[in-house]
Amino acid sequence: MYRRLINYSSKHFGLFKKLASIADRRLKPQIATVKITAAIICMQLSNLGSLNNLSQALAYGAYPSVSTIARVADSMELDGIRDIGLDIYKKARKSKMLSAYCGKWIGIIDGHEITTSSYLKCSHCKRRRLKTKDGAIKYQYYHQFTAFILTGGDFSFTLDIEPILPGEGEQTSAYRLLERVCRNYSKAFKLVIGDALYLNEKIFKLLESHHKYTIAVLKEERRQLFEEANSLSLLVEPKTYKQGRTYYRVWDHSISGCWDGYGKDVRVIVSEETTRKKVHSKDGKGWIDMVEVANWMWATNLSGPEDSSIDDLKNIVKVCHSRWHIENRCFKETVNTWNGDHIYRHGENAIIAFLLFLFIAVNIFNIFRKRNIKDKKIKTKVYLIDKINAGFHNLKRPLPPIPIPI
Ligand SMILES: [Zn+2]
Repeated sequence: MYRRLINYSSKHFGLFKKLASIADRRLKPQIATVKITAAIICMQLSNLGSLNNLSQALAYGAYPSVSTIARVADSMELDGIRDIGLDIYKKARKSKMLSAYCGKWIGIIDGHEITTSSYLKCSHCKRRRLKTKDGAIKYQYYHQFTAFILTGGDFSFTLDIEPILPGEGEQTSAYRLLERVCRNYSKAFKLVIGDALYLNEKIFKLLESHHKYTIAVLKEERRQLFEEANSLSLLVEPKTYKQGRTYYRVWDHSISGCWDGYGKDVRVIVSEETTRKKVHSKDGKGWIDMVEVANWMWATNLSGPEDSSIDDLKNIVKVCHSRWHIENRCFKETVNTWNGDHIYRHGENAIIAFLLFLFIAVNIFNIFRKRNIKDKKIKTKVYLIDKINAGFHNLKRPLPPIPIPI
């Protein structure tokens, strides 16, 4: 299966030829960068999870040493890796390997934390102060990044990531990321969704200047807009519908003059979602009925019809909820399935380099699984990854067209 994935990556995306365009800042390199990038991508595609596992592989002697890989990752040019991600996206989109979600091409942005530790590991670690139970002060060190994904019907495709540097917040990093994504992927999406942090006039205006719409979660902190939406919801009857076991009461308001910094009308979608569930009783002998109510509000500059139909509302609520895809399909899945929180090399450049390679590998894997795996026995992602991993370990030499150091 590993062989099939390598051939697929090479045939459809020219992956190993493209890796040759990545440079690093070594002055007198003894091993070409392409041999190092190829080793990293093979390690990510077969989900080895650590450089140490690469050093245990049967074919290890044919790859650069783990210390060389780690050292070169410190100075690898990140934009070169991003360009490969862009080329893969272009090919995938042109060949209709990607699909829209609810008929829309949607980008989702959010921040994520990695490498939380009590020890300072590099000069770019962020730091938080904690007070222990006995009153002592402790520090915690960590790294964070923002990610931007394109969500689709079957899977999501990660377009880019950007570090959140020490001393800055998520919005600053997100702003840089959005500027770059809008420039590099100008036609990839029409709409961007973010959490309450993205209900920010600077972000709405930036995206507007690139002809993109924004949806952001509306929370109480945005008091004026929040209270106006609540007041309107008391005056207007909601539209109601049922999907699965959840009953929806949805309002679609157009609100003027409640967001000073933005200065334009916004649309606020309010959704009250009631789900009836059966859960185990406390004594474990039977079942009890439970009712779960979730209240959601989103603000957007996406215009809607004068009077939304039920189908319009169902669609927009589903689109708004797709914000969860970045949590479930991107962060959780890469951490739980792909060892995404493993630090291959602790350094500000290397952390982002390994993550960019990981997302290239996961993007290719998802396309490969969807389009190339017809065998019904391969039901789960994990099973397929295990088969690829076993294939890698069984090889005594890297496969052509993987460049090897010798
Ligand atoms: Zn660090």
